[in-house]
Amino acid sequence: MQKLAPDFRQALDVAFDRAISHLEHLDESSVAATADAATLRAQIDKPLTKAGMPPQQVIDELVRDVESGLLGSAGGRFFGWVIGGALPAAVAADWLASAWQQNAALYACAPAAAVVEETVGTWLKDILGLPLRASFALVTGCQMAHVTCLAAARHALLSRHGWDVESQGLYGAPPIRILSSSERHGSFERAVRLLGFGQAHIRLLPVDDHCRLLPDALEEELSKAAGAPILVLLQAGDINIGAYDSFETLIPIAKRHGAWVHVDGAFGLWAAASPRLRYLVKGIEAADSWATDGHKWLNVPFDSGFAFVTDPESHQASLSLRASYLTHAADARDQMDWNPEWSRRARAFPTYAALRQLGRDGIADLIERCCRHAHAIVTGIGELPGAEALWKPVINQGLVRFLDQKAGATEEDHDRHTDEVIAAILKTGEAFFGGTTWRGRRSMRVSVCNWQTSDQDVERVVKAVANVLQ
Ligand SMILES: *Cc1c(COP(=O)(O)O)cnc(C)c1O
Repeated sequence: MQKLAPDFRQALDVAFDRAISHLEHLDESSVAATADAATLRAQIDKPLTKAGMPPQQVIDELVRDVESGLLGSAGGRFFGWVIGGALPAAVAADWLASAWQQNAALYACAPAAAVVEETVGTWLKDILGLPLRASFALVTGCQMAHVTCLAAARHALLSRHGWDVESQGLYGAPPIRILSSSERHGSFERAVRLLGFGQAHIRLLPVDDHCRLLPDALEEELSKAAGAPILVLLQAGDINIGAYDSFETLIPIAKRHGAWVHVDGAFGLWAAASPRLRYLVKGIEAADSWATDGHKWLNVPFDSGFAFVTDPESHQASLSLRASYLTHAADARDQMDWNPEWSRRARAFPTYAALRQLGRDGIADLIERCCRHAHAIVTGIGELPGAEALWKPVINQGLVRFLDQKAGATEEDHDRHTDEVIAAILKTGEAFFGGTTWRGRRSMRVSVCNWQTSDQDVERVVKAVANVLQ
């Protein structure tokens, strides 16, 4: 046995101890940061010394200096944005991924990581109800999953027009028309910008009162774009109310016009893993590509996202690369053929661990439990005097609004009051919610994605909001 540098054990011991202590004290800790930026800077921004220091001291001081700037997002009272928790097996596997220091670029430089990744890809397609022939990539998040999928789409759409985009770029290429709904996520637009499609080519179409893209509007725009390469983005779970486009209706329409259909299912795609919620994604398997996250609803540590593409040839053509110093596997999957990164973290390990810890039933239970809690929080808060439920969750996303009680209060007064209440809740440290503007009105988002959220947490946060409102 090789003698381990004592520094290693001591540093990891301190990290282990502090990590456990953080997790053990989440219940008593403020879910909001307790220090402001100036305080954090005063603690963190020290002169970088000429001489280094012992690793365990680095870790000890790191924890001491950053603690007051940590959010309680690992725990059950955090409902801001769409942020998942992290499952025990997934955190542990993530630590091992760091200790093992595998470069998961190619099978040759990390054989086990490559095979774990193959397995994870197959399991995910199965759980999410996607075609087994689809190719996949494990990326940093849904943002890069969009980039990966749209790079494949760009290849496929333009090669049908006789254009080799990998060689010629977009100079002189036929413009790609992009159709989506007003509810699309900003990460899609960033992907469109990065890939050179140009944001101005996105046309946002109207939605119905459940925020679902209107089929007639899509049909009409597709007809107008006849002959052009067309990309359609559909939404599986939008950021405000978790709205699902009607895949069953929309995908066949888009396909009839030769469009590539991409689905943003950052968290919403996980409804497919629940027998009770699967109806929401009916017909979704007919799309061309799908982007989702591991670090949201699956509760894998950051950063973890998944891209799936039905057309492996286009996927590979857009990303694959050969170099004489690389060793390409003949009988295994080289991640570099499918991923935008070169060197990369062995991020399949934590996902593999999360899926095995939960099993199929555990995944379905996690998804359904979060939906139940989200519904209970929105309903509970909505019944409080001065509050109103704007959207009761169908999945794990809901909205509430706080009404200014003064006589003759206007919508602007309610908007301001809603933001004030959100800030006041944050200040209690009892719960973390964010705000949004939905249909022109300020509201508080309730987003439940953490395996740790319990019935007691739900009760506690509703009580905390009641106290703030009094
Ligand atoms: C979070 C989110 C994204 C972006 O995902 P990242 O993991 O942050 O890159 C895209 N779409 C929707 C609907 C999201 O909620």
